[in-house]
Amino acid sequence: MAKNILEVEDLKIYYPLASETFFGKGGVVKAVDGVTFDIRENEVFGIVGESGCGKSTLGRGLCRLDPITEGRVVLDGQDISKFDRKQMRPIRKTIQMIFQDPYASLNPRMSIFDIIAEPIRIHNLAKNDKELEERVVNLLRRVGLDAYHANRYPHEFSGGQRQRIGIARALAVEPKLIIADEPVSALDVSIQAQVLNLLNELKKDLNLTYIFIAHDLSVVEHISDRIGVMYLGNFVEAGDKNKIYKNPLHPYTKALLSAVPIADPTVKRKRIILEGSIPSATNPPSGCKFHTRCPKRMPICETVAPQRYEPSPDHYVYCHLYDDKLEAQAAES
Ligand code: SF4
Repeated sequence: MAKNILEVEDLKIYYPLASETFFGKGGVVKAVDGVTFDIRENEVFGIVGESGCGKSTLGRGLCRLDPITEGRVVLDGQDISKFDRKQMRPIRKTIQMIFQDPYASLNPRMSIFDIIAEPIRIHNLAKNDKELEERVVNLLRRVGLDAYHANRYPHEFSGGQRQRIGIARALAVEPKLIIADEPVSALDVSIQAQVLNLLNELKKDLNLTYIFIAHDLSVVEHISDRIGVMYLGNFVEAGDKNKIYKNPLHPYTKALLSAVPIADPTVKRKRIILEGSIPSATNPPSGCKFHTRCPKRMPICETVAPQRYEPSPDHYVYCHLYDDKLEAQAAES
């Protein structure tokens, strides 16, 4: 089995609410609330969940763009969870991020050349100007653009081209791990497929590892090897992609998958409609955080948070339905 490039242990990212209310302090937003997982070298780990579930905060926290409240992040054997900005500088060569909105993430006043050259300059990866120019041109070609694009500015490109520029900038430091945060959700469907194919090709050619964050399960299925399903700051189910898509265990995963359209009209799938909307991360429900919407909830779900159960290798779930002891108790009573 491939070695782990990233190990995350009980990661918490909490934000204090800025505003103080009449009744006192505003409390904290528990955006990521105790997440544990690992990523193997050269795999794509997809993270899915509704908007507001904490998946983007998790991605930013792993890159140390957002502060970590508690927990461990071990990248390529090095614990980076307490690193400050200066200590993180050389680490940024290993881990890079691609953002959802390629336009907002590209400085409109910088030429494409300077946008891609900036990380190369920061990390002193080119010996001279000639080598810098060669690197930038090679990166542009690598993502399907041309050398003449280097002198243009972000507003002169389409959304798909801007995302390619964002990918070239991420590749400029030759990272091992790329966190792609909803990289195709702002693009037209036809362009989405092109960018996904490009990411797939780059992964194979450059031995990259991706964390691919998305709310669209069909996009994640297309690109991922393993998947983590997030709900209100926690994974509820994770593991091998095929196992999760063929045999989802958690009621939330089942509901999400029931909404994914199937290309084959002869296959019928019953849509599971969840009650209500995702609760606030400031005041999450007690016990299992999903109990307020779960069609399978039991009395214990309201008070006791479920542990992690692994009914088959590389497929785990946080849900009392998989607790054998509870099942035995129910059979006895
Ligand atoms: Fe539903 Fe209970 Fe399982 Fe939570 S623990 S998902 S409420 S059955």
